[in-house]
Amino acid sequence: MSYAIDETHDVKLESWVESANDPKTDFPIQNLPLATMVRATDDSDDEDDYTLSAVVAIGDMLLDLNRLSMSDLAPEDDGDWDFIAVDEIVAEGKWSSLRKKVQKLLLKDNPALRDHPQVNDIVIPRDDSMLSMPFIDPIGDYTDFYASLYHATNVGCMFRPDNPLLPNYKHIPIGYHGRASSIVPSGTEIQRPVGQQAPSEDGGLPNFGPCKLLDYEMEMGAIIGRGNELGEPIDIADAEDHLLGLCILNDWSARDLQKWEYVPLGPFLAKNFASTISPYIVTMEALAPFRSPAQERDAGDPQPLAYMDSDANRKGGGFDIKVEVYLSSAKMREEGMEPVHLSTGNMKDLYWTIGQMVTHHTVNGCNLQPGDLLGSGTISGPTRDARGSMLELTWDGDPFANPPISVPGTQRTPLVLPTGEERKFLADGDEVIMKAYCERDGFRRIGFGECRGIITAARSV
Ligand code: CA
Repeated sequence: MSYAIDETHDVKLESWVESANDPKTDFPIQNLPLATMVRATDDSDDEDDYTLSAVVAIGDMLLDLNRLSMSDLAPEDDGDWDFIAVDEIVAEGKWSSLRKKVQKLLLKDNPALRDHPQVNDIVIPRDDSMLSMPFIDPIGDYTDFYASLYHATNVGCMFRPDNPLLPNYKHIPIGYHGRASSIVPSGTEIQRPVGQQAPSEDGGLPNFGPCKLLDYEMEMGAIIGRGNELGEPIDIADAEDHLLGLCILNDWSARDLQKWEYVPLGPFLAKNFASTISPYIVTMEALAPFRSPAQERDAGDPQPLAYMDSDANRKGGGFDIKVEVYLSSAKMREEGMEPVHLSTGNMKDLYWTIGQMVTHHTVNGCNLQPGDLLGSGTISGPTRDARGSMLELTWDGDPFANPPISVPGTQRTPLVLPTGEERKFLADGDEVIMKAYCERDGFRRIGFGECRGIITAARSV
């Protein structure tokens, strides 16, 4: 694995951007995630005149790489810095060196940018609403995995009580090809989908109308930075070299559509109406201090086949990233209530590592391309408060209690919100807010920002 802990992670580093030194910030100088900003053109009279800029988040501010390139601060030895979106940085393979140069410009004692006459043009207040999808080109391909054994077991218990975990699960990272065109950035409204649901009686006609069982899935997304040629698989030893970094992913799911359509070929319209990603890509370099061993397999479990196994993957293929889900209903917002915390899971609780997913995805010669998105699958843990979907949380009772993993056949009971409203699934006006962050003694906490979406009413049918 090629991402080492180095001087860029030093806990003592501070920035002249004071908000970056706040211990609670997601974006200290050790993080420096990438995003793409939609910025109004200052020198234009036309209000609709916008430009795109690749940016780096630092504390409550954004450093505009495009504006930086127009100043006399762009490193002369590094070619053109005129990046208008994250894909250009990736295409030129520049992120690793750029990270070090940007960090230097933001260090507390470096006056070069701090005292520069154009500093207020280059470093501007962060406003998440100005951030677009990180890539100027649409995400090419989206593959969603199913890598949490806890989630797979929970869902299997509900959908197939007699046979919850299929025999392939512990041999193959299960996945399906999702839909890239409907991936949207955080803050985009999510219209309740319409579709077919199972007949109310055996042999009857299917029901048709707005989804009644609308759910979220707390996932992390891996962004491919470097692709592979068609026909040339990616070795497990090289898998992480192909990753740019991670973002938060909400794989919105219509459970009633899913139950009716998923046999025999898997998810289709239940999943492709929208998926939301957080706008920041936290790079593999920034995540180096927060790696974890691959999840340990039970003694009776099979080991992965040799092509998905390596010492490095076993020791450090996982990510120690806490993932949190919050919900606020329209009524809660009206009454000025804070969003309620639903769950906290951890990405280290995945049965398969991202490296194994990359290697397995390409073992048949399939080619990944820069900007492709791989979803981890819903991140659920061994306890009830670590369940990453509402389907699992409301299964058998109070989601804030903490017994071991669920019992098949138990009754579904709703979540009760602070307003007294009840939820089994999402209602119109509900906002789902996902957060993710890494903490480790001796290092600065780093975070991923937020991934938000409000449900709006279905179109009339
Ligand atoms: Ca999913």
